[in-house]
Amino acid sequence: MKAIAVDLGGTHATVALVEDRTILASEVIGLERVNGLGAVLPLLAEATYRVLSEAAVERSQASAFVLCFCGLSDPATGRAVSTNQKYDDATRIDLPAWCQREMGLPFMIENDARMALLGECYAGAAQGETDVVMVTLGTGIGGAVLMNGKILRSKHILGGNLCGHIPVDFNGRRCTCGAIGCAEAEAGGWSLPLVAKGWPGFAKSALSREPAVSFRSLFEHATQGDGVACAIQERCLRVWAALTTGLIHSFDPDVVVFGGGVLASAEVIVPYIQKYVMEYAWTPWGKVRIKPAQLGGHAALLGAIPLLTSGQASGLSD
Ligand SMILES: [Zn+2]
Repeated sequence: MKAIAVDLGGTHATVALVEDRTILASEVIGLERVNGLGAVLPLLAEATYRVLSEAAVERSQASAFVLCFCGLSDPATGRAVSTNQKYDDATRIDLPAWCQREMGLPFMIENDARMALLGECYAGAAQGETDVVMVTLGTGIGGAVLMNGKILRSKHILGGNLCGHIPVDFNGRRCTCGAIGCAEAEAGGWSLPLVAKGWPGFAKSALSREPAVSFRSLFEHATQGDGVACAIQERCLRVWAALTTGLIHSFDPDVVVFGGGVLASAEVIVPYIQKYVMEYAWTPWGKVRIKPAQLGGHAALLGAIPLLTSGQASGLSD
């Protein structure tokens, strides 16, 4: 089976033609200067035709156009439900009608963390697993849950999707969602520079000479022994480990898969969280395994075929 899969983030989109577990052709589009999904859609349609042409595949051979969306999405209706400011017009756009009009293809949409989970289960770190929690550590913290072999969606479609907004500190920072002390407000990419600037001794730390504190620079300086970087890294690891314990107690998985760019430091992150949950998670049946994602930026794209064949997408019977 072939499909067009689009992974839409805040700064760029990847448009790909996928066939089962293989990406036949793909193109990355920069979106820094584009605002609103309405302005992005024509770029996606143009890239779709280029990608099909590159792979010498007819449009009619693709089963669907699958949008992996960086916001809450409802696959049953094909609509974006809620998102950040950049794409705040998305909830008002009839995406299935656009897709039919511009490309003559059935349209599917799902949240990007859920798509990454589907991809990792199909072709990556969680192949053969039926009960998995996926956590994506990036600018924010995304989450998705596979339970008894099915993506958890729930009545209001939020089920398992708001991992990053589980409070880990009731005295913590105000989050973009309005709550206090959410995991991503304490140890997410967007909050990290704020956490670092407020850290005692920051001005004398090597971190203060970075143009912007990122997880990459934090882990680099911690490796080199910078005291402030080590302390902030330890705090981030504890936040993620406490969050993981909460997710294990909520969703009872066999495996928790961590994805996102910071997993370049998987050799630090995975053993830390594994040790923490071995010590603190209450799992009388056994021990939850912590694994790094395997598919990197391709995970969500490779979730397209399992989404289409799972019977959980729009237009398909459940
Ligand atoms: Zn929040």
